[in-house]
Amino acid sequence: MGERYLVIGCGFSGAVLANQLAKSLDCNIEIWDERNHIGGNCHTERDDKTNIMVHRYGPHIFNTDRKEIWDFVNGFTQFFPYVHRVKARSGDAIYSLPINLHTINQFFHKTFSPEEAKKYVDSLALKKYLDPQNFEEQALRFIGNDLYHAFFYGYTKKQWGCEPAELPASILQRIPVRFTYDDNYHTNSFTGIPVEGYSVLIRKMISHPRINVFLNRSFSRHIDVSGYDHVFFTGALDAYFDHAYGRLGYRTVTFEKEYAESDYQGIAQVNYCDLDVAYTRITEHKHFAPWENHPKTVYFREYSKETMKGDTPYYPKRLTGDKAMLKLYRTGAEKLVKTSFLGRLATYRYMDMHHVIGEAKDFAKTFVELHMDGQPAPVFSNLESY
Ligand code: UDP
Repeated sequence: MGERYLVIGCGFSGAVLANQLAKSLDCNIEIWDERNHIGGNCHTERDDKTNIMVHRYGPHIFNTDRKEIWDFVNGFTQFFPYVHRVKARSGDAIYSLPINLHTINQFFHKTFSPEEAKKYVDSLALKKYLDPQNFEEQALRFIGNDLYHAFFYGYTKKQWGCEPAELPASILQRIPVRFTYDDNYHTNSFTGIPVEGYSVLIRKMISHPRINVFLNRSFSRHIDVSGYDHVFFTGALDAYFDHAYGRLGYRTVTFEKEYAESDYQGIAQVNYCDLDVAYTRITEHKHFAPWENHPKTVYFREYSKETMKGDTPYYPKRLTGDKAMLKLYRTGAEKLVKTSFLGRLATYRYMDMHHVIGEAKDFAKTFVELHMDGQPAPVFSNLESY
């Protein structure tokens, strides 16, 4: 008969975990998801009107430097190479992102070589921030006031709903500054998009006779789970505890969908960096699949706001107050038995898909090893200090 496991959430964390456990242990796994589809926020589906593959919860581009993760996802479905290029509207001009030699030359009306640009930007950098403590100091330390205000201040304030000085420097560290004309938004060795979409990839991960998925099924800690040997929770940690200590800060995103003939903006993503434009970016999804042809187009204006009751949490803010609250929730979780927490929402971290997949794989491996040894499972997939 084997063990009975319950996995809450059918995004990458839940799907990878179920896939790995089903392969390694004699077990039956149920995955419950409160939505009417698998894939979590990576869910993709074809748009009814245009047949374009739409990333319903915002664009997802697969990037990783870990070959074993790239091989793992490619083992389920075919990926096509995709290079993400982003434009930014700032003032009355369109620039290239991430900040690169083209951006610098255009912005300062110069014709700098890489070395000249480096020296010039270095002369603008505010060196007093030797050890940058937050997003703003990190930006000022490396690119100075003008570039920071043109490309980061307004966008970040809209995206996160607070002053950039309140945010961790690590958010900015996601984006490089380059002194070449390389305008690839990402720097990873392996990058692509699954040809059939992410939901097909996830469906393949969980297609196993021992894995059963139940959609439209909500979980609550008050449900009797005594029939299961272990529960793996991948939803929001504060929601698990019915927000007993308050709501962890998350930004959520809302989308305004529009249609147009042929091509709306000529590229997958244009960021709007100024505060007087309410949305943060427009994404046009046919450009995420340049190998397909569609006569019409569909695009989405993205708006960011604080997550309230009933909203889908997207980006964890991790402000100082959030971290104190997180501690309380983690302490509460440590007291539970036969329950583990993994993934972006349950560990309350800004994670890319490859981080989520890698961590779920590692967690499954640890779980299996400890199980074989008769040891209890780890409560979290990450250490608190991570
Ligand atoms: N960011 C910005 N201006 C931009 C793009 C990004 O200020 O034009 C900042 C913003 O704070 C954002 C962070 O950099 O949250 C990380 O950007 P990324 O493109 O990685 O965000 P994601 O695609 O994950 O929303």
